[in-house]
Amino acid sequence: MMVSRKVTLGTKEWADSNVNCYLGCSHDCRYCYAKKMAIRFKRKTEKTWRIMVPNYKNIRKGYRKRTGRIMFPTSHDITLKSLDHCRLVLRKLLQAKNNVLITSKPNLNCITLLCKEFESFKAQIQFRFTITSCNDEVLKFWEPGAPTFNERLQSLTLAHVAGFKTSVSIEPFLDKDPFELIEILYPYVTESIWIGKMNYISSIGNNKNEQKYSEYIKEINSTNNLKAITLKSKKYIKVKINIKDSINNELLHYKLKKSGF
Ligand code: SF4
Repeated sequence: MMVSRKVTLGTKEWADSNVNCYLGCSHDCRYCYAKKMAIRFKRKTEKTWRIMVPNYKNIRKGYRKRTGRIMFPTSHDITLKSLDHCRLVLRKLLQAKNNVLITSKPNLNCITLLCKEFESFKAQIQFRFTITSCNDEVLKFWEPGAPTFNERLQSLTLAHVAGFKTSVSIEPFLDKDPFELIEILYPYVTESIWIGKMNYISSIGNNKNEQKYSEYIKEINSTNNLKAITLKSKKYIKVKINIKDSINNELLHYKLKKSGF
């Protein structure tokens, strides 16, 4: 029996192309794939990743209408420090009539400003906010430079009330049962919620505390828990829940292994 499945991991599940205008990200997430790649190709080090350096080539250039949706940004975030350059790039993308998926672990001041400034481009914009847990202690460990849960929730509420299309990424989910978080978020989501698992841990040390968090992720990424989440997502009727390929592929792999392939 041949089983084939298109593997579409990460940003390819969401958009046709992406745009970034900084190298490095002050959120400094311990699971960041962009950080892992930047260190591998010697563009950054473990210590310098959190220093955001403007990519002036991408900031100054013009943007045309592209085929399909553009995701912005994908390898840094929109922070108070990067905001002005991000606004400039966003304006060029939107004026060229592109549809843009704005992804962020949102800073409330940044989102307030973007909602005001791009009010007239509302139809071309969808916000996708990454909210991986409602527990600030957990967020602080995995995403040390990123906003608190409350700030992300307020940003989501604000964009929703302002009439923008809103969606949420719970990737990677950081609590065993992500539906407790979904229950809080779903009233402010107009489009979809995505759940994915942690694939990479790019910076974790050997001390007991760090190992405790890392062991917990292994536990919640167990096949049984992934199956339970997938099953529950199908029965969930309050808002559309999408399971990301990081989970689907893991379950498919398990199924094939079990049946001897
Ligand atoms: S917010 Fe995104 S780009 Fe920034 S460190 Fe975290 S995972 Fe990486």
